[in-house]
Amino acid sequence: MNKRTLIDYNKNNKTIFKMSAGSLNFNFGGAVTFLFRLFRLYRSILLCLMTFSLSLEWGPLGEERLRWGMASGDPFVREVALTFDDGPRERGMQELIEALYPFDLTASFFLVGKFAERYATITLSLHEAGHELENHTFTHPKLYTLWTEKIMREMERCNEVFENLNLPPAYFMRPPGGSFNLKVFNAVRRMDMRLGLWDVNTADYTGRASEDIIRTIMSTVGNGSVILMHSGVPNTVRALPELVRQLKARGYRIVSMRDLWNAGAI
Ligand SMILES: [Zn+2]
Repeated sequence: MNKRTLIDYNKNNKTIFKMSAGSLNFNFGGAVTFLFRLFRLYRSILLCLMTFSLSLEWGPLGEERLRWGMASGDPFVREVALTFDDGPRERGMQELIEALYPFDLTASFFLVGKFAERYATITLSLHEAGHELENHTFTHPKLYTLWTEKIMREMERCNEVFENLNLPPAYFMRPPGGSFNLKVFNAVRRMDMRLGLWDVNTADYTGRASEDIIRTIMSTVGNGSVILMHSGVPNTVRALPELVRQLKARGYRIVSMRDLWNAGAI
């Protein structure tokens, strides 16, 4: 090229745009990839902004941990977490437990308190199978529509169910729909819990085929990814053996949310 390149923004060897003297070339594919990566990080960015706003409100957080939640783990560690929402369901849970069993891995189940209470035997089986049980509120409301006290009550009631069943306390709370605002964030902080979000959404609840679920995950997964799936979805259960095989083939270790957090979340 004989024209002098003024700007050459390069991400993973993909040039997004080049501005040369007299011409401007735009690479749409590169830009889409860049925007997609940015979108994957948006929850992390939102969390950072909220942490920052809290530090403005209450002054420096000092010795307290600066982060109050996690959308994905350490981007330099080849680990991912499998998470299952909205359980326990009346049907399909035993199949899910059995599908996970041969891989000797710990998955994280975000349980709806009222279901955990109603299907207590299944809740206990999940725990006995070695999985981590986390808080997904008591009634699965849209938390951002509630006052802070009401949000805390939703979290407390789910925690009480765990307590009554002699289960280890939940560490993360996943807001239904993944939607949160400053009140939700504040409630989590006051309850001394952590927001448990995700960065890979399989949309398995829409009735997608197992192959599509696997394809979505494998095309978007990265180091530290938290993969969102749902309890009691037959196609998800069917996808699991091949999914775990492909993740392992790419060198990912499958760990729990708490392991990801302890390894250093962003
Ligand atoms: Zn949910």
